[in-house]
Amino acid sequence: MQTNTVLTIPEPGVARTAEKPFPVITTGFVGVDVAIAPVCNEARIFRDHQFEWHDSPEHLGHEGVGTIVETAPGSRFSVGDRVIVFQGNSCQKCFVCTQGLSPTHCLGIPYEGFDDGMAPQDVTAGLLGIEKVCGSESGGFAMARYRIAPEHMIMTIPDGLSFEHAAAGNCTLGCTYTAAQEIGISANDVVIVAGVGFIGMGAVVNSLYRGATVIVLGRNEYRMQRCRELGVQHIIDPGDDDWLAQIHALTGGRRGADAAFECSGAPYYLDRCFAGVRRYGRIYSMGFSGSGGYEVSILNDVMDRHISWTGGHDVRFRDRDALIRMLGDAEVQRQIDVLTTHSFPMSQAQEAFEVGLSKDCGKIYLRPGE
Ligand SMILES: [Zn+2]
Ligand SMILES: [Zn+2]
Repeated sequence: MQTNTVLTIPEPGVARTAEKPFPVITTGFVGVDVAIAPVCNEARIFRDHQFEWHDSPEHLGHEGVGTIVETAPGSRFSVGDRVIVFQGNSCQKCFVCTQGLSPTHCLGIPYEGFDDGMAPQDVTAGLLGIEKVCGSESGGFAMARYRIAPEHMIMTIPDGLSFEHAAAGNCTLGCTYTAAQEIGISANDVVIVAGVGFIGMGAVVNSLYRGATVIVLGRNEYRMQRCRELGVQHIIDPGDDDWLAQIHALTGGRRGADAAFECSGAPYYLDRCFAGVRRYGRIYSMGFSGSGGYEVSILNDVMDRHISWTGGHDVRFRDRDALIRMLGDAEVQRQIDVLTTHSFPMSQAQEAFEVGLSKDCGKIYLRPGE
């Protein structure tokens, strides 16, 4: 009988595969043979064993690309279609879903109840909900040989676009595509990217793609070298006494960057984003560390300097088509090759996560079929 190999993190510092029953699909879902499951928050989970509301020791991974191996009656897809899978299983009915916004912000996910404890893992809008709806004992998650994907959460990958390049459409270039759209990055903008890991590199690529000038605030030499190779013109060490004067020197009369992406969640970098943007500047948070707070002065930081601050972590429905076209751009593909620094068979996830924690890496791909 055919089974499904899934990745588990049973205890901190241990990653190993396990055999589960083969996934079962129902109407509205497809079965996907996963080619690449990119590493996102799983290296941190491997270290801390702290899970987000949607994952658990035996349910890991939300990004991915692969080939459809099974469809349900009435499907608009076919076996053999190559697809990118976006995260979650949004309701398709609420105002977020019907206005083309991001599935991660669907009203089917009860964030407002998180103060009373974690949201139930198996809410229908989450990944475990996929297994619940299908009555399946595996397949809701990406770090598995076979995955179940809701049809409204996949897009066909155009002929000629490789799995390696398409896989950047999730949390690397995808979430940052939407972020760049939402705060209106355009040519002539000067953009700060602070706290650079693979999401920061995605913000760099999206800013350069729109013709902006990028200032990276960072100091991990491995990652700064990757930023130079991506085409970043200016790198400033945030520990320099004159780091802010260096930003002002690059932004002339506007005395600050037009926009900033904070990609680490560290208050150290968020402080510098607030200081580094100009009056009427825009800040987009793409990093976080837990659900703790961050102190701002309403008067000094927000009102007097007229700063707009927002955040998010998903690709809007309405951005998917243009995102896929961006992934077909030759320069973007060169940049994806630069920022995707490692690839491992899923059976070697232990090593992949250790590389992830070393920070001497960009994006890391796992290959469940190897
Ligand atoms: Zn992700
Ligand atoms: Zn919804």
